[in-house]
Amino acid sequence: MNSNLVIVGSGPAAWTAAIYAGRAVLSPIVLAGEQGGGQLMLTTEVENYPGFPEGILGPELMAGMRRQAEKMKVKIIDKDAVKLETQISNLKIQNQNLKLKTSGGDEVAARAVIIATGATANTLKLPGEERLMGRGVGTCAVCDALFYRGKDMVLVIGGGDSAAEEAGELAKFVKKVIILVRKDIMRASAVMQNRIKRLQNVEIWYKSEAREFLGDKRLEKIMIVKDGKEEMMVADGVFYAIGHTPATGWLKGSGVEVDERGYIKTQHFSTATTVEGIFAAGDCVDARYKQAITAAGFGCMAALDAQRWLETILEK
Ligand code: NDP
Repeated sequence: MNSNLVIVGSGPAAWTAAIYAGRAVLSPIVLAGEQGGGQLMLTTEVENYPGFPEGILGPELMAGMRRQAEKMKVKIIDKDAVKLETQISNLKIQNQNLKLKTSGGDEVAARAVIIATGATANTLKLPGEERLMGRGVGTCAVCDALFYRGKDMVLVIGGGDSAAEEAGELAKFVKKVIILVRKDIMRASAVMQNRIKRLQNVEIWYKSEAREFLGDKRLEKIMIVKDGKEEMMVADGVFYAIGHTPATGWLKGSGVEVDERGYIKTQHFSTATTVEGIFAAGDCVDARYKQAITAAGFGCMAALDAQRWLETILEK
């Protein structure tokens, strides 16, 4: 199999890139993954994606993006990319000199590749977590804070800038927010810490960890350990803010450089990676914003960058 452009992923970045590339008649192939859909598949209501004033369910938004890509005559393969081989040489530049191997055992050759494999929010896999995920247990308070308007108590787990930011966002809507920090200090920057310490409805509990989430249809209680003592707390919600892991392990050996946390390095205000013809978009690049709309914007940029790159090499 071969193509001008292969797009790897099936979140907002990948589908937006596919829509743009399909519309530019680049006949892209999308390796959409065996599970597909990215983090929005684990989200319930999305209220901050423009164009849906009544909100839209995360899986529905992803299904719509996929359908839109299909309309652009994009070929979709529901397999994971497991390896990316790069053999860049000026002599071969007219040929497909990038090669992807899929979990189905296929090989796909390409002139250009867009990597949009996303990232997963780290969680602790606590008892009750899987059942209550999206039902009081979440991984993005910035996305969901509004749903907790008027609620009594929401917890945030983590001690970094994300935990501080999420707590600050929740504090606008919730009567009380408690941050559970496992150590006796917070890692968050002084500026962020000062900001939340000024908020009257935010408490920071050090040496505190969650142990179990309880509730039938929704989260009702959380078992925590504070200073070595177990405590059962009534809570309306709990958010993890213990970092993300970008899905970039499969790029090992490809020459595509990642930073110390695994995020793909791109050039300033461009989606170009350290390998010619390979572009990257969305949460596998972005440790900062991590929103569906920013990922979609990145996907658009990557498609335009890839299109320009292809035009340049095909003119040679
Ligand atoms: P970080 O890696 O900075 O922090 C993760 C936090 O989670 C740490 O406090 C860590 O604790 C805690 N943690 C990790 N594992 C566990 C566990 N098993 N149990 C309990 N706690 C755990 O991730 P962030 O997402 O906070 O930030 C990522 C990057 O994004 C950073 O560079 C940050 O500066 C940036 N950012 C900046 C923002 C801003 O400037 N407005 C907002 C949000 C993020 P410990 O400290 O004990 O290791």
